[in-house]
Amino acid sequence: MADGAFGLSRELAEETAPVWDKVKDFVTPLEWPQQARLISEINRLKRERDAVILAHNYMTPEIFHGVGDYVGDSLGLAKEAARSDAKVIVQAGVHFMAETSKILSPDKTVLIPDLRAGCSLASSITGADVRLIKERHPGLPVVTYVNTTADVKAETDICCTSANAVQVVEWAAKEWGVDKVILIPDEYLARNVAAQTTVGIIAWAGRCEVHERFTADDIKEMRAAYPGAEILAHPECPEEVLAASDFAGSTAAMIDYVAARKPKQVVMITECSMASNVKGDVPGVDFIGPCNLCPHMKRITLENIRDCLRDMKFEVTVAPEMAERAALAVQRMIDLPPPSKPARYDLVKARHHVDVELI
Ligand code: SF4
Repeated sequence: MADGAFGLSRELAEETAPVWDKVKDFVTPLEWPQQARLISEINRLKRERDAVILAHNYMTPEIFHGVGDYVGDSLGLAKEAARSDAKVIVQAGVHFMAETSKILSPDKTVLIPDLRAGCSLASSITGADVRLIKERHPGLPVVTYVNTTADVKAETDICCTSANAVQVVEWAAKEWGVDKVILIPDEYLARNVAAQTTVGIIAWAGRCEVHERFTADDIKEMRAAYPGAEILAHPECPEEVLAASDFAGSTAAMIDYVAARKPKQVVMITECSMASNVKGDVPGVDFIGPCNLCPHMKRITLENIRDCLRDMKFEVTVAPEMAERAALAVQRMIDLPPPSKPARYDLVKARHHVDVELI
């Protein structure tokens, strides 16, 4: 009976009211009844299937706030998946993230709502490429960004994220007793890390199609239009973008920065949904564009999450031998002492160009 808000039953309106509070700036009252029904159906299916949903920071707000049991960056999500007792994991994110969850939780069923949710960065390199790189640079450690496929991780010595890349690179150089490491596949992350350390970097020309499009001119235009706004950039952006920003760090570091400082106006130089999701949790901060959408992340919708749980599709598997080798590289990173806070990039260093050797 439609006796609640938005033409919903009173029970459903009450159940979904806390979510509406967080998404009302991004979802129209016209869209909400359908979304509220889907959110309720998904939460019921989760209980029936003994499932948890891992929602990446780049999911749309109705997914992030409505059905995500764990939200965060890809590695944080995979670690939560391993800790969870649930039998089924639904990855509201892209394929390499589902593989990482499977690598860390081999006994759980890992599902992804759309198998086409890929990643330009992950698809820029294969395990065979890494074997060739190792042949060309024998004796150097291979540090691989977590945004890679399982076969690339299996060829890797240690993984890293944008939050700990500098720490991992310095650890690997010390451990191997070398002054150079291979850091793949994101060229811009590699260049930005090279500016933060004295360790030499050998890089691969992979790019994130979302972050590579930002330019220093975008920042100049934003500063002219919004003189008081603080500009935060992700280290997958080109070096000149970081150099022109007020803060640079991983998605987790950006969230910490906004939550702690609560600046009046913020520009987040990253994927669009990130700002929308942080806004839901840090009201009162004015988030301004520009942002770029990740077409792969946007393949995940409430509808296909519902279908995924209802029909138990699509399962993501990793061959056991490959998963075991990949797990070693991920675990080595997890075993490093965690930074007390997600690392921020030193912008004074970021403004000094340091060359990398591009393979
Ligand atoms: S935002 Fe970039 S790195 Fe993340 S999934 Fe999309 S293309 Fe890949």
